[in-house]
Amino acid sequence: MKAYMDNNATTSLKKEVLEAMLPYYTEVYGNASSKFYEVGRVAEKANADLHKAVADQIGAKPNEIYFTASGCEADNWAIKGVAFANKNKGNHIITTSIEHHAVLGACEFLEKNGFEVTYLPVDEFGRVSPEEVENAITDKTILVSIMTANNEIGTVEPISEIAKVCKAHKVIFHTDSVQAIGHMKIDVNEMGVDMLSMSAHKFHGPKGVGVLYIKSGVKIDNLIHGGGQERGKRAATENLAGMAGLAKALELANTDLDKKIAHMKYLRDKLIKGISEKIPYSRLNGPADDTRLCNNVNFSFKYVEGESILMLLDMKGVAASSGSACASGSLDPSHVLLAIGLPHEIAHGSLRLSVGDETTEEEVDYVIEVLPPIIERLRMMSPLYEEVLRKEVK
Ligand SMILES: *Cc1c(COP(=O)(O)O)cnc(C)c1O
Repeated sequence: MKAYMDNNATTSLKKEVLEAMLPYYTEVYGNASSKFYEVGRVAEKANADLHKAVADQIGAKPNEIYFTASGCEADNWAIKGVAFANKNKGNHIITTSIEHHAVLGACEFLEKNGFEVTYLPVDEFGRVSPEEVENAITDKTILVSIMTANNEIGTVEPISEIAKVCKAHKVIFHTDSVQAIGHMKIDVNEMGVDMLSMSAHKFHGPKGVGVLYIKSGVKIDNLIHGGGQERGKRAATENLAGMAGLAKALELANTDLDKKIAHMKYLRDKLIKGISEKIPYSRLNGPADDTRLCNNVNFSFKYVEGESILMLLDMKGVAASSGSACASGSLDPSHVLLAIGLPHEIAHGSLRLSVGDETTEEEVDYVIEVLPPIIERLRMMSPLYEEVLRKEVK
């Protein structure tokens, strides 16, 4: 591979993270619930330490950290768990039209089970307005779920403002921070949120482990019934290796965070500038200011199809992603691109490039070099583009 440009999809596992995980696959094989012998007690202590390590990184208390098996699980639990536990208070939930499918899917499930969901629109940059959140709240509203940063177009939402609105109306507020961790400072108190989801593999941790932060006092149903793990809310023998991987990855992600953000911003802006200058009829999707995630680039190219761009990029050793049809396994282009108002044909020609703290300038330069001829080649096959060129000549 010449350039890995899909860090919003997943990231590589850092060597130090793997090293932090390995003891739990070898010496420390005890069950954290088996306290009558040494290897069980070591596991029990690790379990407590890992909750504290994660809590310290986001300003939470150890007993507010609940490990899950993924970001999707954390999102599903937050939404369904709060909905069912608070249904005596109301049946209304507010979210946005640009959430991850984990949130949207959970909301659609609830709609089939007696709940009502408002999907707030966003502006042309993908931004949610706190005033619209406030206007949507009724006396039946029990939960608001709005992502910290969008995974496709990188919009960072005004989370602390929305949190204030929710607090004033005594509505529980959940945020999906899966894309935000490692790309901005995340502190649950500064943000003012009641629940927050994260997933290790998006910040150089292992796949298959996430966290749901649940502020103490939030009423939520238990997710998995069984043993007493995770204060009885999510039974299952602890995945200590995964938890150790998440905790280590989170600590590393927050180490020299400002420096890493500056590095990713530099690469992001170089990509945006290079692509805008070299490729005509291109459009940057998402914000062009400080409310854009430091590592995300998303363009639409008129007269081409996203899938074809990915194929030709792959042949050049570039891994990227697109918001077009087949990538998402459905006929419609990305719901996020449609929500910011792009017509179908433009949304289909979209490309997401996402850098990471390990991305090099050489990788970025390489993409800026190979992408323009790819777009040009694809456009040469488009009858629409031919027409455009003919008109230009006239
Ligand atoms: C990746 C992602 C998820 C899902 O996380 P998994 O651990 O892959 O289940 C949820 N929300 C957002 C915003 C994501 O980018």
